[in-house]
Amino acid sequence: MPFNDLGLDADLLKAIDESGYTEPTPIQAAAIPHALKGKDVLGIAQTGTGKTASFVLPMINILAKGRARARMPRSLILCPTRELAAQVSENFEKYGKYHKLTMALLIGGVNFNQQDKLIDRGVDVLIATPGRLLDHFERGKLMLTGIQIMVVDEADRMLDMGFIPDIERIFGLTPFTRQTLFFSATMAPEITRITETFLHAPERVEV
Ligand code: AMP
Repeated sequence: MPFNDLGLDADLLKAIDESGYTEPTPIQAAAIPHALKGKDVLGIAQTGTGKTASFVLPMINILAKGRARARMPRSLILCPTRELAAQVSENFEKYGKYHKLTMALLIGGVNFNQQDKLIDRGVDVLIATPGRLLDHFERGKLMLTGIQIMVVDEADRMLDMGFIPDIERIFGLTPFTRQTLFFSATMAPEITRITETFLHAPERVEV
């Protein structure tokens, strides 16, 4: 299946073409059409399958219409580590080069002031580790009631690192009507429980 058949906009197809990708990977071909229809997706995929583009591309497409308000991000991508969050932000910049969406990376080790300024300006895509996101929330700098799309990446690593209570808390701070794209390499009972609690009739995509 060519990229053109997935329902992505022309600016995304141009950026994908410039990446040198000729066709979507299986997780991309399976997940992107569901995500573009506004459905929740439960993706069971390892790193290296192209899973990052399978959530970043539809997010950009969906968020292209609309504009962020100060301190109310429109979407959130949660990653277990700083390194992974930084990689996801590089993907966002690569695929989103022809869109005028704003992004902020909230990870530890960077000073709060710099991150506060970005949040104040209005953020379409917030990419964060759970601890740093909750730090900002507790400082009263950020609201999660404007989240339209939420992604949890590498949930199995979140579990290993003890982040499940943080993830549950963050889900609870976002609107019930959000769209959720949830990725994990494996489905431990604790992860199944989270998906049953917070995802709405998800499309299950396994590669
Ligand atoms: P990920 O699983 O998201 O970490 O992606 C693994 C690698 O595959 C990254 O280096 C991506 O740049 C690359 N990649 C993602 N999608 C495609 C595609 N459709 N065709 C070729 N390479 C891709």
